[in-house]
Amino acid sequence: MERLVAEFARLPGIGRRTAERLAFHIVKSDSSEALRLAEAVQEVKRSVKHCSVCFNFTDDRLCSICADPRRDASTVMVVEQPRDLIAMEFTGMYRGVYHVLMGRLSPLEGIGPGDLTFAELARRIDDPGLNSRGEVVAELILALNPTLEGDGTGLYVASELKSRKVKITRLARGLATGSRLELANKAVLSDALEERREVQ
Ligand SMILES: [Zn+2]
Repeated sequence: MERLVAEFARLPGIGRRTAERLAFHIVKSDSSEALRLAEAVQEVKRSVKHCSVCFNFTDDRLCSICADPRRDASTVMVVEQPRDLIAMEFTGMYRGVYHVLMGRLSPLEGIGPGDLTFAELARRIDDPGLNSRGEVVAELILALNPTLEGDGTGLYVASELKSRKVKITRLARGLATGSRLELANKAVLSDALEERREVQ
């Protein structure tokens, strides 16, 4: 029981009290319900992979966005996490594809470019064969969180890639500093996308 509580308490947003409630619920529930939960956890770890092009979650080689012929593969939006991609998809406004960095640069936490999928992004621009449907990347939209680290990550990506023949834009500043993309509402995100500007 103590071990189960400890495991629940490790989950994001779950405090000790909630962890105890969840563990207690499992103890009371019949064994088939508990087993279904355990199997779902196991299955997701077994089957969910990263898209070989954009690093979005998928259970296939390509995610559903990269595999969709209606999406414009010449426009690539760079986000920190899959959950930022989900927030942008929710607006229904964006028709391009994505690149998920799987984090942001954080010198304090010792997270450098090598810990992100930055090299894969550079290769994707250099070699259209590595992009969805072999398209040349014409525009890169930086859609990082408006935080110190997100800004730093955007600056790094822009300066490292500016010698390439790719237009680099970033979301307009409709988003409050320190806020998070995944929590922004649909209208704010749509405006930020619509009014994006070129990074100098
Ligand atoms: Zn993908």
